[in-house]
Amino acid sequence: MSSNKRIYLSSPHMSGLEQDFVNHAFETNWIAPVGDNIEGFESDLENFLNNKAYAIALNSGTSAIHLALLLLGITKGDEVLCQSFTFVASVNPVIYAGAAPVFVDSEAETWNMSPELLEEAIQNRIENHKKPKAIIAVHLYGMPYKVDEINTVAKKYDIPVIEDAAEALGSFYKGEPCGIFGDFSVFSFNGNKIITTSAGGALMVKNLDEKSNAIFLSSQAKEESEHYEHSKIGFNYRMSNVLAGIGRGQMKVLKDRVEARRNNFVFYKTELSKLKNITFLEESSNSLSNRWLSCIVLESFEERECIRLALEAENIESRPLWKPMHLQPVFKHCLSFTNGISEDLFRRGLCLPSGSNLSQEDLKKVVNVILKLVD
Ligand SMILES: *Cc1c(COP(=O)(O)O)cnc(C)c1O
Repeated sequence: MSSNKRIYLSSPHMSGLEQDFVNHAFETNWIAPVGDNIEGFESDLENFLNNKAYAIALNSGTSAIHLALLLLGITKGDEVLCQSFTFVASVNPVIYAGAAPVFVDSEAETWNMSPELLEEAIQNRIENHKKPKAIIAVHLYGMPYKVDEINTVAKKYDIPVIEDAAEALGSFYKGEPCGIFGDFSVFSFNGNKIITTSAGGALMVKNLDEKSNAIFLSSQAKEESEHYEHSKIGFNYRMSNVLAGIGRGQMKVLKDRVEARRNNFVFYKTELSKLKNITFLEESSNSLSNRWLSCIVLESFEERECIRLALEAENIESRPLWKPMHLQPVFKHCLSFTNGISEDLFRRGLCLPSGSNLSQEDLKKVVNVILKLVD
């Protein structure tokens, strides 16, 4: 039964172009968190964002969020408003900084932070003399959040926004690329993301002062001098020049990767929408999603599990939507502003195999397992 090889949710997809850049690092002996590939990868990212932000290549998306919080001066006792419906990496850095996350639930249209609940949360915290120091909003599964509405609320109360675009490289809002909408923005190049450096991330900032500050903090806060002078605590967060080489090769095929993932979504929707009990996350006229993961929502938890287990029996990986952070044991002491939406999506939603390297045969196999169940 060797033909039954596992179909993964989202696996790395090399183009072959990465190897030349990695070889270049070896040939020049820049096997370090310094070198040409880092600068090359950063300028590839900046070009992709139409030079509307500066990039700092880092060892993970998590580090990028942590650095953004540090650059905003967030510290012990501060509160940070966090989208509850997300992967835990959006929130852990708030704890690293000694601050407290305050969770905000989602709206139904994009599954991302509800602007109304955000404002309610801000007003509540201000009444309690704890004005939040930052907002972390997430383009979940590649679907842009309501950028105008979130930014309007943020401006009204003068609170900076960290845009978690870890899942949204190649997504657009009103024709502009995700990654330029926050005071700071974050990408991840972890192995499961739309492009990968095996592990890695980037922080996007708005001016060169912030960029040099971020490089300083991410490379052990070494001040100018022969002996290494330190008056601040730094971090070892810079990306390796070897891995940045992988990133340069991956940037050359980013558009193809987005197209392939969007085609996966169209295939699933076309094949499955004859089933009345399945719904999809739709784009609005403002948004273009990279469709990092294709998600479906069933009518009940039981239906969702039935599909998930049937896929697993055929060696096909699928996964429930993210469990909201306000329901996670580790954050049970944290404040939250909820409306039931993310909890409901968590119960009924499922991510289907979504890699850009899935074959037509793989996709058909997934769909057939589901169609057979619902017949
Ligand atoms: C992957 C991810 C991150 C963290 O990225 P790493 O590179 O894995 O540290 C942050 N936020 C979201 C929403 C993610 O999906």
